[in-house]
Amino acid sequence: MTTAMVEKYKAFYRLLNKTSRTLVDRRFRQQGQCARGGSAASGLDHRPDAVVEQRVSYLGCPKRGLWTSARASLPSFVDGGFARDYPMNRCRSFGSVAGEIQRSSKFATLNSDDVAHFKEILGERNVVQDERLEAANSDWMHKYVGSSRLLLLPKSTDEVSRILKYCNSRCLAVVPQGGNTGLVGGSVPVFDEVIINMALMKQVISFDKISGILVCEAGCILEDLISFLDNQGFVMPLDLGAKGSCQIGGNVATNAGGLRLIRYGSLHGNVLGLEVVLANGDVLDMLGTLRKDNTGYDLKHLFIGSEGSLGIITKVSILTPPKLSSVNIAFLACQDYLSCQKLLLEAKRSLGEILSAFEFMDSVAMDVVLNNLDGVRNPLAPTAHNFYVLIETTGTEESYDKEKLEKFLVGSMESGLISDGVLAQDINQASAFWRLREILAQIEPFVYEWTSNHRGSISAEHGVGLMKANKIFYSKSPEAVQLMASIKKLVDPKTILNPYKVLPHSLMSYS
Ligand SMILES: Cc1cc2nc3c(=O)[nH]c(=O)nc-3n(C[C@H](O)[C@H](O)[C@H](O)COP(=O)(O)OP(=O)(O)OC[C@H]3O[C@@H](n4cnc5c(N)ncnc54)[C@H](O)[C@@H]3O)c2cc1C
Repeated sequence: MTTAMVEKYKAFYRLLNKTSRTLVDRRFRQQGQCARGGSAASGLDHRPDAVVEQRVSYLGCPKRGLWTSARASLPSFVDGGFARDYPMNRCRSFGSVAGEIQRSSKFATLNSDDVAHFKEILGERNVVQDERLEAANSDWMHKYVGSSRLLLLPKSTDEVSRILKYCNSRCLAVVPQGGNTGLVGGSVPVFDEVIINMALMKQVISFDKISGILVCEAGCILEDLISFLDNQGFVMPLDLGAKGSCQIGGNVATNAGGLRLIRYGSLHGNVLGLEVVLANGDVLDMLGTLRKDNTGYDLKHLFIGSEGSLGIITKVSILTPPKLSSVNIAFLACQDYLSCQKLLLEAKRSLGEILSAFEFMDSVAMDVVLNNLDGVRNPLAPTAHNFYVLIETTGTEESYDKEKLEKFLVGSMESGLISDGVLAQDINQASAFWRLREILAQIEPFVYEWTSNHRGSISAEHGVGLMKANKIFYSKSPEAVQLMASIKKLVDPKTILNPYKVLPHSLMSYS
């Protein structure tokens, strides 16, 4: 870890600290209570005070749980303008690469006829040209700032279809936008692309308690879906720090991983179907809820992780597992990275099906968190540890699960894999453990080159977006990238969907 990297960590945390605030804990709701924002029938309310929130599981009281703290406020432009005072500072677009790219002259420039046409489709209210555009033009860290003159808020698939059909005919470039929590510049315009935000498509369409299959619109906020499912006795197989603002459509578009990946797998496994609107306005109905469908190409996978470059996701069907009642969390120290790896293997072997999270951080990351964030402390004695690991188990039998975890911890201590450790004894400890880990999820993935050298994925956490479009060769072979570009040109020949992003500019005709 170089000094420059440490400085970057520190700068990030100073920024985060400035925008974070602590909220009261919220217990898991009992079954039968209404999810915040209403029932499935009425759809889920959009909360104007969009937030980034962190989830903390609760140990020691198996039938309850805890949600907590550290929300970084994000601007919201739907239903009433800016939710709170959120300074916009265009000078801080330090990481934008827009200056290095030329606006493609093939794209048309918005005119008053276009605006009038969109008003015919969406009505006056959902064609936005006022100060709310400012929030939509920038990512939440103000790293990428575009200059779009139009924000559209469709309420149905049909409206999305009509918008895209028109934009395609006019060669107007567009940027699909969800909760705008992405960190790689994928969700904001590079130049004057029309912003299509999905926030008003927020209905839960159906939930089948027998199969656990949820069908909803793409604009549903992840946290609202988590709450909705919690009330039904089910779990969203995806959970991440930005859940208070990110939308399920954005999660699918970025193939978001999050904190439950080890237990529930990736969205490629959990998403059963999608409805997508293509660049020419055609609606692709792949919203099947079959768990097994081997009839030809499984096209939905093309759109999972396509970051708005192939179509706009309008509906999602997703398989959700039943909620289990017993949760335990341990915070451990390891002397070296190899021990962390061996610990993971051992955890998989010994804990088996109850292992629900395994997260690790190094001591530099821990120091940065401790030195720059208020209200966090190292749960372990202040000895120098090189690595820290958080392990969570989730099961059905509290005494059995706890016994299993304790046996595993004792064995790992005896074999020297862990040098210290603590089991959360109450909700405050459990929340403190998760807070330490989740805060790290927000670090910009600036180590992708190193990752690629070790055959990792440069977009494992946050996608390619604008930031890494020209770096995609680090993690994909030239042949694979070429095929991706061919697919893009096939489904979006005018390249109006999220131009300049995901694919290397050398392969796309933006001139
Ligand atoms: C605190 C924090 C923690 C995070 N933790 C994680 C993590 O653990 N794992 C992880 O993978 N990411 C993480 N992220 C990154 C980001 O939150 C996720 O990628 C998230 O899934 C993006 O959802 P969104 O609705 O905000 O999408 P946006 O940011 O609005 O958009 C992201 C991309 O998806 C496209 N898009 C959005 N909606 C649609 C749609 N309906 N149809 C087609 N394209 C669409 C956009 O064009 C853009 O390219 C984190 C971010 C923050 C701020």
